[in-house]
Amino acid sequence: MSSRSNGADPAGNLVCPSCALPREVGHYLCLACWRALPARAQASLKRRDRLARSRLRELLDQLHDGTPLDRIEVAP
Ligand SMILES: [Zn+2]
Repeated sequence: MSSRSNGADPAGNLVCPSCALPREVGHYLCLACWRALPARAQASLKRRDRLARSRLRELLDQLHDGTPLDRIEVAP
């Protein structure tokens, strides 16, 4: 897997897909962007089951489309 498809910058640092600031390993977003998500989306995204990857895809697609963080919705 290339580092780019993993959401890392060219130096290999993990960056937030919303604001491009550094993020922690194992987090989808930086803390500020994560806190801006609706509580329901946070709860869904925290679940680590077989649908976790498709939820992440939903999140990234909406960020790519310019959906505001507080309007993000993912499958429960
Ligand atoms: Zn961010």
